[in-house]
Amino acid sequence: MKTIGLIGGMSWESTVEYYRIINHHINRRVGKLHSGKIIIYSMDFQVIDELQHRNQWEKLALMMVDAAKCLENAGADLVAICTNTMHRVADEVENNIKIPLVHIADSTARVILDKGFDRVGLLGTKFTMTQDFYKKRLNQLFGIEVIIPEKEDMTFVHRVIYDELVRGQLKDASRQRFNEIIKKLAGNGAQGVILGCTEIPLLVKQEEMKKILFNTTQIHALAAAELALLP
Ligand code: GLU
Repeated sequence: MKTIGLIGGMSWESTVEYYRIINHHINRRVGKLHSGKIIIYSMDFQVIDELQHRNQWEKLALMMVDAAKCLENAGADLVAICTNTMHRVADEVENNIKIPLVHIADSTARVILDKGFDRVGLLGTKFTMTQDFYKKRLNQLFGIEVIIPEKEDMTFVHRVIYDELVRGQLKDASRQRFNEIIKKLAGNGAQGVILGCTEIPLLVKQEEMKKILFNTTQIHALAAAELALLP
């Protein structure tokens, strides 16, 4: 089995989920007492948050590249960046390591296409919802059209991620508003909705929603686990 390198801590609330999902999946697939071979490089999220909100993406790219190289040198056979937002610098990471990077948007796109969908809503940080690195990739590489919420809803989603979810706060009022925003996206033609922030699945549950939700944390963690299981 290959060793998975996780760049985590963005936030640690969702990195815990990656750890749990990967271990569960590998045990389910291989049996006995098997579990994942995992190395985690966990960031101090305060630092990341400040750099993101000051638009210092070059500095963030250097930090992600450094983490990926550490994981590679420590023996990781593949790397996953455990956040959608930080895929803004995925190309820089990929270009500076020899081992494969499991891209969260590519993994998600494959699941969307498997469902036969080509028009989906996207919830995530403002960076993910408004900048090109995520939507353009889904559109240009996979032919998926992405619908984002209206401005006020985007501001709300972004605020809840940074003020509540990354702090481990799961509030009913926020869940209800997220559910309403998902319904609005569906009303605008979304066949399903990408939970494009790795903490959102802690708050929003598929069981409560009619629309198909694409849980990027689970999709990405499973993609990394499957790659680790390949001979
Ligand atoms: N984990 C979140 C994401 O998937 C947001 C935290 C971050 O800014 O990295 O985008």
